[in-house]
Amino acid sequence: MDTLKQYLAKAKTEHWAVGHFNFSTAEQLRAIVEATSDLKAPVMVATSEGEAKFVGYEQAVALVKSYQVEGHVVWLNADHHHSFASCKKAIDAGYDTVLIDASKLSLEENITLTKQVVDYAHSVNPMMSVEGELGYLRGASEVQEKIEINSNDYTQPEAAKEFVVATGVDRLAVVFGNIHGIVTEQREALNLEHLGSIIEAVPDTNLVLHGASGLSDNDIANAIAAGVCNVHINTELRLTFHDSLMATLHNDPTQSTPYKFLAPSLEAMKELIKAKIVLFGSAGRL
Ligand SMILES: [Zn+2]
Repeated sequence: MDTLKQYLAKAKTEHWAVGHFNFSTAEQLRAIVEATSDLKAPVMVATSEGEAKFVGYEQAVALVKSYQVEGHVVWLNADHHHSFASCKKAIDAGYDTVLIDASKLSLEENITLTKQVVDYAHSVNPMMSVEGELGYLRGASEVQEKIEINSNDYTQPEAAKEFVVATGVDRLAVVFGNIHGIVTEQREALNLEHLGSIIEAVPDTNLVLHGASGLSDNDIANAIAAGVCNVHINTELRLTFHDSLMATLHNDPTQSTPYKFLAPSLEAMKELIKAKIVLFGSAGRL
């Protein structure tokens, strides 16, 4: 199997994106792997610190490994891990890749912490893909009314260049109008001109679009065409799972068999994931 780095390089050159989907239960992971395998798409699956705490670090690794040995092209990412200790915990447990998110710190502190994680990751596996984050990505992976979107929060191209050179990350989460989660009282829109200036500053770095839930298909497609090669979806998956589960339990409140009342939620997740994979252009890339 080619490495994640090799797939990202291919995606970047060919203008498609590797999908990145979060899970917090074993059957959600199964839904992601089945949907992407059906479409022959490579995929990143992930747990945030909260999701990893719920699933278990060792358990998340063992679950993903069970699909890898079956031949599925899937990598496990530690999404938005905020400290060296939590990144180390994921790497030591066997995660394939990490995102050290020190974006709330100053540029200098962000560089120091990110570099520490890159050095540790590469001491374990020199080929490991490590992601850093720069810029202020507002919001949470849930439905919100309104989030202030301010161009001061955007990833600044010169800072991005300094960050990438100083840390050695090969993936960078960037901010150019995107926010985490979905907003109901405003329209989310990407600033593609700004994305262009980031790409110019760090042409060899794999740029990652976070918070793609709530963005128009057009915006996502344009960002990928411009050079983004990794797209994160979490909130939309959570909502789909939740809403389908609510409907199932509402329609059949006495059903108590988990594999029966959970099945429609997983099918709904798979349908959403397939639509995203087609949008990302990653179908048929294996
Ligand atoms: Zn994110």
